[in-house]
Amino acid sequence: MELRELKNLSYKIEDELRKEIEEVSDFIFNNPELGGQEYISSKYLVDKISQYGFNVEYPYCNIDTAFRAEIGDNEETSIAFLAEYDALPGYDGPNGLGHACGHNWIAAGTLGACLVLSKLKKYFKGKIVLIGTPAEETIGYKCNLVKAGVFNDIDIVFQMHIEAFNNINCKALAMDSIEFSFKGVAAHAASHPHMGVNALDAVQLTFAGINALRQHVTSDVRIHGIVSNGGEAPNIVPDRASCKFYVRAEDRKNLEVVKEKVINCAKGAELMTGSQLTYRYFENSFDNIINNSILQDIMRKNLANVGISELLESQDGPTGSTDIGNVSQVCPTMYTELALDICPIVRVHEKEFLNYANSLEAYDKLHKSVKAMVTSALEIYLDKKLLKEIKKEHIKNISL
Ligand SMILES: [Zn+2]
Ligand SMILES: [Zn+2]
Repeated sequence: MELRELKNLSYKIEDELRKEIEEVSDFIFNNPELGGQEYISSKYLVDKISQYGFNVEYPYCNIDTAFRAEIGDNEETSIAFLAEYDALPGYDGPNGLGHACGHNWIAAGTLGACLVLSKLKKYFKGKIVLIGTPAEETIGYKCNLVKAGVFNDIDIVFQMHIEAFNNINCKALAMDSIEFSFKGVAAHAASHPHMGVNALDAVQLTFAGINALRQHVTSDVRIHGIVSNGGEAPNIVPDRASCKFYVRAEDRKNLEVVKEKVINCAKGAELMTGSQLTYRYFENSFDNIINNSILQDIMRKNLANVGISELLESQDGPTGSTDIGNVSQVCPTMYTELALDICPIVRVHEKEFLNYANSLEAYDKLHKSVKAMVTSALEIYLDKKLLKEIKKEHIKNISL
């Protein structure tokens, strides 16, 4: 079957599966769970995809709520769709949780894409893979999956997220999380202060040093921290104090340079106070997203085919960090953000966003997202030369 015909057939199949895909979004939305504890959501997704004949590994890579489901041929093009299904705390939903980042939508879209492709399987050679990736909002388990080599046999990765704008050229900052802990000597703060070594002073001097550093970093850099332990009582010289920082930059190269300076601020504070410094990375380190222009061209075309052509092309504007950045370093990744047609714009993590994350408008974009991912994947399954070009560019990009 020709590509054009196959794409049309995929639209038809997606239309037939509409209800099923919306049900996935509903279920995950109505059962919000914190990152790493997505037991109900992951089991639901695994049960659902098993019904379609996918082979499932669950739990996966020693992570309780991660899974891998696949169907198709070994030694052929292997395309993975990355599901997310963790919710956020601090909302009015069940257990005070809510899908204010719309990960219910991601789960439904990626599973939906796999279901549609599985029904077209006789028309192409290749493997369809759905990987369940827990705790995007916190631990970022994709980092663990990357380290475990999960993507070594994957050729291409797709994922879409709801955001404020349509964007196929997303940016995410590289990020390290560092905790500085200082050990001093406790003493009576009034009668024997000269006997004490003040660990809290070291924390304050670390902040002072970092604040001075801000003037001398490039504008992409973000350094933000909290005091995680500031002592016990005002009449005791604090012998333990600590602070936590996120340090971010546009790419890891710059981050490494800035991070060393941040660590030196803490070392300076150690020297100034006579305390003892230890430091550790308290969460996974995230890498910046590497985009692939060939994948972007494919996605741009297939989004236009479903009526989405107004794309944000510039990489300017606010951004954070995400664990799909790490995936993009080891595997060509097409990460796309789709906007909901709502006015005024409501952004993810806002309370108001809960009214939209599983709305009719979200469903409309969900079906477009599935169709665009499926048709993009079909192009790659059917054209080995195209895959080769994508990989060639990826190798060039990671060596920059
Ligand atoms: Zn989020
Ligand atoms: Zn999110």
